[in-house]
Amino acid sequence: MKFQPTRCPCKSPECDSSPSFQYQRRGRFRRACDGREVQRFQCKRCKRTFSTQTFRVDYRLRQPALERRVFSSLISKVTQRQAARDLHCSRGLVARRNKTYGMHCRAFHEQMIFERGSSLSWSGCFLLDELETYEHNRRLKPLTVPVLVHKPSYCILYATVGKLPPRRPLSKANLRKLAALERAEGTRRSESRTKVAECFDVLEAITQKSGAVAVRTDEKHTYRALLQERFGERLLHSRTNSKVRRTFRNPLFAVNHTFAMLRDGLSRLVRRTWAGSKEREKLEWHLWIYAAWRNYVRPITNARPNETAAMVAGLAPRMLEVSELLQWKVPARSPHNERSQNPSRPPRAVP
Ligand SMILES: [Zn+2]
Repeated sequence: MKFQPTRCPCKSPECDSSPSFQYQRRGRFRRACDGREVQRFQCKRCKRTFSTQTFRVDYRLRQPALERRVFSSLISKVTQRQAARDLHCSRGLVARRNKTYGMHCRAFHEQMIFERGSSLSWSGCFLLDELETYEHNRRLKPLTVPVLVHKPSYCILYATVGKLPPRRPLSKANLRKLAALERAEGTRRSESRTKVAECFDVLEAITQKSGAVAVRTDEKHTYRALLQERFGERLLHSRTNSKVRRTFRNPLFAVNHTFAMLRDGLSRLVRRTWAGSKEREKLEWHLWIYAAWRNYVRPITNARPNETAAMVAGLAPRMLEVSELLQWKVPARSPHNERSQNPSRPPRAVP
């Protein structure tokens, strides 16, 4: 089927609020970088011209042949410097793609969650746990990465990154560095509670408004309080001591396994690595790239090669290719507040 634009990309309030979007075809052109033929259009209201390419993730990216390979480096434990050496491109290009793809993958996932809707019930329970890592300095700038996983499907529903206070005791040299750091950035306080609350907000948004919600976590006290605030009587909360052996029989296996996969797939999360994160924002983009690949592209397990986590969770009707995941831009939305605000729904992410 031929591509048909559903909105004007000019973003002016007049075009955005206009009830009927009308356009005209305005010839074609051939892209110099890959020879692909592209249809041009013109908006009948604002007269702005645009093309099929305007709506694609690789809009204005000049080396299309590299895109797939940069993406696969980012999910294959290759550091950004090594990817740049392998692909004969600059380190800046890899860093920019980390941002572009990270933001896109997050928007894509949120769109899929939105399309699934909260009225459809979820089978099984949800697991939440926090992975610990750091930015720049392991002792002075630790980070927490709360991840919400749907147990039967291993689907990563939400992941975020928050600051943690310095890990004490500190050496004399580190104490001096900490004093300088606090002068520059202020005291580093824990964001664990707010970031975990974000995960539970998402859980509240994606589940039905009535009926029980089953969640399993470890024994950290804040989880119980935050969950009770949101679900009250509907909450079925079970807790597992974090000292229980982390085998397949551990009730938190799905989330422990997700952490193990993240540590194996993301160069910056590998233990005792030279490639640790420098900035937490970039870690968050990188996490979303991995989450989207894990949910929509990678088979759920090696024994089930034709099924993805998103298919089991009811988020996608079929397995996607990386090229499909990275095909169409998705307007950014937040699962907390999108329910009623956006009457003009964007085109389906997976046709
Ligand atoms: Zn327009």
